[in-house]
Amino acid sequence: AAKHHQVIIIGAGAAGLMCALTAGYRGRDVLLLDNAKQLGRKILISGGGRCNFTNLNIEPAAYLCRNPHFCKSALARFTQWDFIAMVERHGIAFHEKTLGQLFCDDSAKDIVDMLTTECDWAGVKIQLRTEILNVQAQEGGYLLLTSQGDLSCESLVIATGGLSMPKLGATPFGLQLAQQFGLNVLPTCAGLVPFTLQPQDKANFEQLSGISLPVVATAQCGKSFREALLFTHRGLSGPAVLQISSYWKPGESISFNLLPDTDLTSWLKEQCAESPKLSLRNAMARLLPKRLVEVLQEMGALPDKALNQLGKAEIESLQQYFSDWRIQPGGTEGYRTAEVTLGGVDTDELSSKTMEARKQPGLYFIGEVVDVSGWLGGYNFQWAWSSGYAAGEVV
Ligand code: FAD
Repeated sequence: AAKHHQVIIIGAGAAGLMCALTAGYRGRDVLLLDNAKQLGRKILISGGGRCNFTNLNIEPAAYLCRNPHFCKSALARFTQWDFIAMVERHGIAFHEKTLGQLFCDDSAKDIVDMLTTECDWAGVKIQLRTEILNVQAQEGGYLLLTSQGDLSCESLVIATGGLSMPKLGATPFGLQLAQQFGLNVLPTCAGLVPFTLQPQDKANFEQLSGISLPVVATAQCGKSFREALLFTHRGLSGPAVLQISSYWKPGESISFNLLPDTDLTSWLKEQCAESPKLSLRNAMARLLPKRLVEVLQEMGALPDKALNQLGKAEIESLQQYFSDWRIQPGGTEGYRTAEVTLGGVDTDELSSKTMEARKQPGLYFIGEVVDVSGWLGGYNFQWAWSSGYAAGEVV
């Protein structure tokens, strides 16, 4: 006979761990399953090993979802302050890096240890190295055939995450299970991901690898982010690019304001008054990395002139060029390096209060497998904590 538990959660990542401990504290008999040999692997490598576990400025507008209202309820019921309180109770030292992003001072392992300790206190059973071979609905719940034997439960929670980083064990399990039960799954693609360049741009910009500068990046939909742009040997990266990539569609271009803090027209006039014979190129190298200026000049974007030789129209077109520098990416680096997966289980299929599938009682989806993706900066973990808590309260 199948071994019975009131609640089975598949996926011992961020959302699954939070859901498990929440349900465990309610006195539920919870089994947390994972096919990996280690739990919380994405947490461990996140934020460069320091885990950007939440953001001080969590707000629904920082999430992409076909229904922009869906995330509101869960985010309001388990907030960043609730997670920070847990981190403080465990004496984990943390700091704000930038833009409200909270990181561990020491190591992401502190967060995994905290969640496993809480699961332990809450009486959660954790079973790793378990492949789920088949899931069926049965009277009063679900039957699971696994590599470790048959299991049954009343509530089944799917927390298997997105498709990004297949090397870390990402699988389409959750999406396939949703489809098996007739739930709509929205098309997925890589988000928070570097751009690759078209061959000509790649040839021009490859030599700038390592250069970083503050920009405002704007997608064709109008969404913009003011953060750093980084040139790499593969293409464009840095926080500005990762953020805007979630709003980009193939074929579209991205506009970069390379001088977000400078009114170039008046700045050039001032420079000209001081040093009229200064070359435009040397003047621009006072504002931007020299190698970038050289490349742009080689590409014909900068006239080879002294400041006092520039006409009004030329100055205007320079102002225009640097405030709206357009690149049409060739593509993205895809799931291999993406931090998040856009799309997933359609939120129309789920209750925003409990994450339960409307047409499949007792089946829940939480975390990244759902069509909710956050900005860079701790927003994705907060969605995992909040949605995990929402389901953990009711399963
Ligand atoms: P996951 O944490 O991915 O957990 C899913 C779990 O399910 C895993 O343990 C996996 O082994 C298991 N699983 C998968 N398939 C199966 C299966 N078939 N059977 C059984 N188990 C299965 N977000 C932030 O907010 N801040 C950051 O600093 C940050 N840094 C990141 C860095 C990197 C490199 C990456 C890739 C992502 C980062 N993210 C960050 C995003 C964040 O890690 C995810 O959004 C978050 O982990 C999603 O939580 P989850 O529980 O839904 O999925």
